[in-house]
Amino acid sequence: MLLLKFGSVDNIEAVITECYAADKLQLSAVYKSLIQSTNTVPWSKTIWDSCLYPKHSFIMWLVCHSRLLTKDRLGRMGILSSNQTHCVLCNRQEMETSNHIFFECQFSAEVWNLVMEWLKYRWWSCVWGLVLNWYSYSLKGKGPMKKLKRMCLSTAVYMIWRERNRRIFQGKRKLPAQILSDIKFSVFAKVLNDNSNVHMKYILENL
Ligand SMILES: [Zn+2]
Repeated sequence: MLLLKFGSVDNIEAVITECYAADKLQLSAVYKSLIQSTNTVPWSKTIWDSCLYPKHSFIMWLVCHSRLLTKDRLGRMGILSSNQTHCVLCNRQEMETSNHIFFECQFSAEVWNLVMEWLKYRWWSCVWGLVLNWYSYSLKGKGPMKKLKRMCLSTAVYMIWRERNRRIFQGKRKLPAQILSDIKFSVFAKVLNDNSNVHMKYILENL
């Protein structure tokens, strides 16, 4: 129930940490936090935005909640054995974890770096926690470039996860540059087909 309300153990810990005063836990503050009807996670605007594809938002939501069925989780559930949990994207015998795929993996990092290069990001990182934190606090506004960057993150996450599934279930593989093309196509298709996105359209046409 608490997980449903606060999203993750990390968020629950953050809420409890805020209830300390002079190194003492203030039970009244904990109670107040628990009875609040809503407690919006800082990354809600990063994953829920009308300009995003719902299927991209859903995969992002799973990643943010550490609920994506990555091989490390399947291993802990006893569905995969320890020698079946390596990442299929980089083939470096690294374990497939959520943080590895987004974007510590050499393959994913290459895709994400290409995206950041395309949109001329000034701040670069391939560490999921830092990326999400940066998005949550610096890229949550309504500006067209911020919206585009949110769109690119969720599209990159979706396309990388789709490529992982394609390799596992269909034995097909694409190069990072091809994944970037898929990301660009998806973003262009969404923005150019929506007449309300004139500013985003202008940015895309002038990149
Ligand atoms: Zn990898």
